[in-house]
Amino acid sequence: MAFDSGLHAEPRTIVKIGAKDASALVDANDAPDLKEWGNKAGTLCVEWFPKIAALLPSVGFAAPKEVTLYFDPKMKGVAHALGGKITISAAFVRAHPDDFGMVVHELTHVVQSYPPGGPGWLVEGIADYIRIVHFEPKAPRPKLDAAKASYKDAYKTTAMFLEWIELHHTAGVVVKMNAALRGGAYKDELWSSLTGKTVDELWALFMKSLQP
Ligand SMILES: [Zn+2]
Repeated sequence: MAFDSGLHAEPRTIVKIGAKDASALVDANDAPDLKEWGNKAGTLCVEWFPKIAALLPSVGFAAPKEVTLYFDPKMKGVAHALGGKITISAAFVRAHPDDFGMVVHELTHVVQSYPPGGPGWLVEGIADYIRIVHFEPKAPRPKLDAAKASYKDAYKTTAMFLEWIELHHTAGVVVKMNAALRGGAYKDELWSSLTGKTVDELWALFMKSLQP
């Protein structure tokens, strides 16, 4: 194969899943063994696109309706989303074939469509909030170490913090933070104006709630 002139190369095929309202273009050409996995992930995206859009609405915003899933044979790490394209490490999928939660996390980034400038910990926290609260609510969660953990740890730590705020302090914060981030209007003061507490005060209350 190394000496193939290209004349006999297989044509690249992109599998389109879904329809006008929500679709996924699956490009497994560079990792053909992941074709079937890619189709499953694409079907999942078609199902979750409207759900995530409904969970993260904002005035005047129309969520994207199409996502491309590309499997990168050389990529290290897990995956990233840029614009409407999710690039996924083929090696990661081979090692973690059950990790569809990762796809929902990345698809949330596509729906977020935030301009640059918002705090990364909150952007990642909201993506994992959608993942762990809505997509895989029964999956085991990390045990937080009050001495070391911070809301700025992002990902599941921030997601669990957001869930606690929603359930035990002020409902609707995720939707409002989402709208602020999307509008490029996030400020730390928003926590106080929405909840009556600073983010540090909220974190202290959350940590206290975890004490036996
Ligand atoms: Zn992310």
